[in-house]
Amino acid sequence: MSPTIVLFTQDLRVHDHPALTAAVDAAGTVLPLFVVDPRIVERSARNRCGYLSEALADLRAALRARGGDLVVREGDTIGHVRALAEETGADTVFVSAGVSRFAARREESLRRTGLSVRPFPGLTVVPPGGVTPASGDHYKVFTPYWRAWAEYGRRAVLPAPDGVRLPEGVDPGAVPDGLAEAGIATAAPDRLSGGEEAARARLASWLDRGLARYAEERDHLPGAATSHLSADLRFGCLSALEVAEAAEAARAGEGAEEFVRQLAWRDFHHQVTRAFPALPARDYRPRDREWREDPDAFDAWRRGVTGVPIVDAGMRQLLREGFMHNRARMITAAFLTRTLHVHWKAGADHFHAHLVDGDVADNYGNWQWVAGTGNDTRPNRAFNPLRQARRFDPEGDYVRRHVPELRGLPGRRALTPWREPEAPDGYPPPIADPGR
Ligand SMILES: Cc1cc2nc3c(=O)[nH]c(=O)nc-3n(C[C@H](O)[C@H](O)[C@H](O)COP(=O)(O)OP(=O)(O)OC[C@H]3O[C@@H](n4cnc5c(N)ncnc54)[C@H](O)[C@@H]3O)c2cc1C
Repeated sequence: MSPTIVLFTQDLRVHDHPALTAAVDAAGTVLPLFVVDPRIVERSARNRCGYLSEALADLRAALRARGGDLVVREGDTIGHVRALAEETGADTVFVSAGVSRFAARREESLRRTGLSVRPFPGLTVVPPGGVTPASGDHYKVFTPYWRAWAEYGRRAVLPAPDGVRLPEGVDPGAVPDGLAEAGIATAAPDRLSGGEEAARARLASWLDRGLARYAEERDHLPGAATSHLSADLRFGCLSALEVAEAAEAARAGEGAEEFVRQLAWRDFHHQVTRAFPALPARDYRPRDREWREDPDAFDAWRRGVTGVPIVDAGMRQLLREGFMHNRARMITAAFLTRTLHVHWKAGADHFHAHLVDGDVADNYGNWQWVAGTGNDTRPNRAFNPLRQARRFDPEGDYVRRHVPELRGLPGRRALTPWREPEAPDGYPPPIADPGR
């Protein structure tokens, strides 16, 4: 029987992996393959490359422990799939179905090679298109989506396969040297480590120690009381379905409910992206927004020196951790698009260059939501950074943690340094009015 190629992409795990399990069940031998495409690496965040490199090493270890291996190639994905198929006689490729334009084109090109391509679910809780409204191909508003999402009959979570048999004589190849240091932008010194094993440990500790308090504390900036599982989900080191089911089974009341709702938001953006793959480049709902070119303001925003502490704290967290708290993402994105009137795409691209969890659907979907060109049903809602700061960082602890120049200002005085009789050393006045 000819081997089956399992092309890994954003699903770097062995647990609850429908494509891998189906290949193990169907074929005598399985070729788990990951192709490092230098064209993608070149435009990826260095932080994501670092995470990816660790995740590949971990996936390889998990497959080796089951008697198989991860075949790693570098170059053009389609060329390598075809070459491996010719070398081994494989005629089938299993893949977890992605939603980006890039993923759709990859699947199309694979089909054109004459190989039989089978897409499987695996990247979301509910597959994109799994629920659709009475009219239209996708939900444009979250609440009705959420209702339908909650009713969807989910597939069962799959265990990791016991054994994976690689055909004999295949060179497994090496994870390219230097992948961890490749990509654009600077590496965050405090990035989380990558891979399924680390991700599963984070999940276990989250279910045990964080989930129950999630509903009350998720917006509290200094508490950082969210799961920090976003990069693990982005790379598929965790299955979103398994995470949702584990959270529900933990019986953590409102905390679990609220957390699972966020996973539905993730699914929501995925089904939007599948229907509107131009999301990273074009307004989802074009509105007459006036955008301004302001390179100096944009640069201050990027570096976290706008003089508005809550904005600067978020932007510096991004540079330091390759991560930013959700509430800070909203505040910083709103400041850029609504206060400075700089185009959402500039901000979203910057986020994408730094976030370890940077994902086309989630990043660009959320940016458009904040900018008012996306799925928000109240696109003109007010968003005052100062009010947000007083509400979600009432004692200024988040600000002081990330903006060392303000550490000398106690309590909420750190939120408004411009009101001090003497400006703190080295901290600029606000570049725009943050409101009252
Ligand atoms: C401007 C902006 C850009 C964003 N860019 C990204 C991105 O590139 N990648 C990304 O994963 N998330 C993005 N988010 C959503 C959210 O900020 C992060 O998922 C969250 O902060 C990650 O932290 P966590 O894992 O501790 O989240 P938790 O609060 O623990 O949530 C659990 C999981 O739910 C999902 N989730 C939570 N909120 C959202 C949301 N609003 N949209 C989609 N999924 C969500 C994530 O997978 C997250 O890991 C963005 C939000 C904004 C406002």
